[in-house]
Amino acid sequence: MALLSFLGAIQQVTGSCYLLETHDGAKVLLDCGLHQGRRQEEEGNRLPFPFDAASIDAVVLSHAHLDHSGLLPKLAAAGFRGPVHATEATSELLELMLMDSANIQEKDAEWETRWRQRIGKPPVKPLYTRLETERLLQQRRPHGYGEPFEAAPGITVTFHDAGHILGSSIVQLDVTDFGRTRRLVFSGDLGNVHSPLMHAPTYLEQADVLLMESTYGDRDHRNPDETLEELSRILDQAHADGGNVLIPAFSVGRTQDLIYHLGKLYQQGRLKQQAVFLDSPMAIRANDIYRRFFDQLDLPELAGHTAAPKIESWLPVLRTTPTPEESMAINRFKSGAIIIAGSGMCTGGRILHHFKHNLWRQECHVVIAGFQAAGTLGRALVDGARHVKLLHQRIGVNAQIHTLGGFSAHAGQSQLLDWAGRFANRPELYLVHGELDKMKVLQQALIERLNWNARIPEPGERIAL
Ligand SMILES: [Zn+2]
Repeated sequence: MALLSFLGAIQQVTGSCYLLETHDGAKVLLDCGLHQGRRQEEEGNRLPFPFDAASIDAVVLSHAHLDHSGLLPKLAAAGFRGPVHATEATSELLELMLMDSANIQEKDAEWETRWRQRIGKPPVKPLYTRLETERLLQQRRPHGYGEPFEAAPGITVTFHDAGHILGSSIVQLDVTDFGRTRRLVFSGDLGNVHSPLMHAPTYLEQADVLLMESTYGDRDHRNPDETLEELSRILDQAHADGGNVLIPAFSVGRTQDLIYHLGKLYQQGRLKQQAVFLDSPMAIRANDIYRRFFDQLDLPELAGHTAAPKIESWLPVLRTTPTPEESMAINRFKSGAIIIAGSGMCTGGRILHHFKHNLWRQECHVVIAGFQAAGTLGRALVDGARHVKLLHQRIGVNAQIHTLGGFSAHAGQSQLLDWAGRFANRPELYLVHGELDKMKVLQQALIERLNWNARIPEPGERIAL
């Protein structure tokens, strides 16, 4: 009988990781994500894997976000030599995400080592290096949506579009053990049906065991049109106040959505700001990958085109600032600028420098448009912190902080219920990838609305498939 272990993103949103083992000894790892957020969670990244990395036959990756992929180089460094199966776009985005992550790991370790040496402490090693990451990237095996392949003996995998970010997938695993086939479906991160660039998540009808994400299990998002109006009002207010607008954004997914929305306001003649900066080398490169896979986007206006225009052309006032010098030059703008920069949860990246220059100014505005995990700087701002610590300085928060729920790249509660409800046969349902209080609300809604008992697994729990 095949066994499934719940290793990561259990009662929390980061560190996605599940291990599937058949009786015949096949081992497939589903996602290998980085823990992000609170210090104690991030320290989890340093712990040894609870399995022998060399014994894993293959990794199957739902999508490129680091909380699903970010420990892959560490897995390879620990001895994993098998293939990493993912969709074509995920395979492309993975290089971008992991090389950036390796860079950050090396720089952080270098900085900390220098600091430790001054007080006579031993140096620290990066979580993984660029070299280890380059090696892991050689192990990628891209696949198309809807094309089944064998990931290991007895385990056939099919990717279906999850509509979350480019390349994101719902993973279907058909597991044959002792002549019996059981179907495991992992939702991955399910997209928001209202997201402008992505298709709605694929509806599936049959599974024996279902793992479903529950990031927004406790609520529905606001209507996207209302959200766009709200954004427009905030931008007008910032213009009237004479301050800048800072938008921390994930480089992959959120940034492209924002360019689309701001482009819409521009075309309607409603964008007063004359300068929108995309201050993220990674997002600029992600734009190119989005453009290359434009046929996978839900943009009817591009149907029939053989080549898509550059994403930047959606918003004529957009300026990209790949170099550090160009990035620093943005500081000259004391008003009238919209600055989109990473990281999405404000845990690093160029957004911190813009916070340093703008967060203490009451005429400035911060727009938070994505999920902020507990323990992150972004969450502290959402929760109303009056002071924050960033770049080794204490900064007062005088700028106005706005949270926009409607642009989420995740399904809201009703959408989760709708997606799960399409399974005709009521599979065993496990809720994953969510904070416990939100999962409990979703669990209750599943009982009330669908008369369906879902389980919330414990970290490390193992079930028979
Ligand atoms: Zn994601």
